[in-house]
Formats: sequence, C-alpha cells, structure tokens
Amino acid sequence: MSFSGDPVTEMPIPYRDISRNHFSYRRHKKQKDEDISICECKFDFGDPDSACGERCLNVIKNTECTPGFCPCDDNCKNQKYQKCDYAKTKLVKCEGRGWGLVALEEIKEGQFIIEYCGEVISWKEAKRRAQTYETHGVKDAYIISLNASEAIDATKKGSLASVSSSVDFPFSIRFIWS
Ligand SMILES: [Zn+2]
Ligand SMILES: [Zn+2]
Repeated sequence: MSFSGDPVTEMPIPYRDISRNHFSYRRHKKQKDEDISICECKFDFGDPDSACGERCLNVIKNTECTPGFCPCDDNCKNQKYQKCDYAKTKLVKCEGRGWGLVALEEIKEGQFIIEYCGEVISWKEAKRRAQTYETHGVKDAYIISLNASEAIDATKKGSLASVSSSVDFPFSIRFIWS
C-alpha cells in the first residue's frame, strides 16, 4: 500500500490517495505555543509504557504530544498521527459492501490505525458538492462533518480510511481534530 500520492486504480471514481488533509479554501491553522499541551511523563528505560502510554495526560485527553515539546522527546509514543505512523492495512473490495480496509498486522487495543483525510471545505461548499455528486450519480461520496462550520470531502482525494465504508475493526474510531 502506498501513501505517496499515487492514484489508486480500480476505485469507483478517479481518486487520489493523500496522507494529509488538503486545505483549498483556507490555510491550515498552525498550533500556537500556548495551545500546546505538555504532559508530565518521565521516560524510564525499565518501563516502556512510561513514555506517553496509557498514563500520559495527553493520551487520556485524546491529544497527541507535540514533537519538540514532549518531555520524553524521541521516546514519546503519542505522536503517531503527526508522524503518519499507520498500522499496516490493505484496501479490498467486499462483496455487496463496497470497499473495506483489512489489517495486515495484529491490531492491539487502542492502536492508531489510519487518519481520515480529505479536502477541508466549508459547509456551504459541502452542500454544493453533495448536490453535484447526486446530480452526477456519484454513489460513493464521502463527506463527513469536521466541526460546526467545516466538513471533510474525501470523495476525490483522501486516505484509504475514507474509502473504506466497511472497516473491519469494530469500535476502532478515535477522533483527533486539529
Ligand atoms: Zn506523556
Ligand atoms: Zn509524549
């Protein structure tokens, strides 16, 4: 599987695999220093879970540690989203259920699988696109709500997470929006 931006073949519509959200109508907001959440973990060689594991304040708050700010530095295990540290998965066609993502490795409880990526657009644009997709008979449209004013459209550009309508990992969703 590739996250390099190669077009994925045999998809329902022309589709580009991206590993980061695309911002076509506004700039990506940069996190301000005062908004960065710093945990109180101390790395201990004898205890691998000490570097931002289950007890980390950021993990408990569903927030990733910010590279360069975590007291555990490179030992931090809570930067998977920012480092694109995805689980090994493969996209497969499931009979009668559209596209699905299957695991190519054992997934542990709480493990980060993949990020739902697409184009970040305004709700107004999302409504306009939804109508256009309907008019053109696009059945596999993937627009999800991001917040009160924005949505993510992964219909034409997205990560494999977004085209897998039947993900085979029950209860596997953890939301990290930024
Ligand atoms: Zn921590
Ligand atoms: Zn950390």
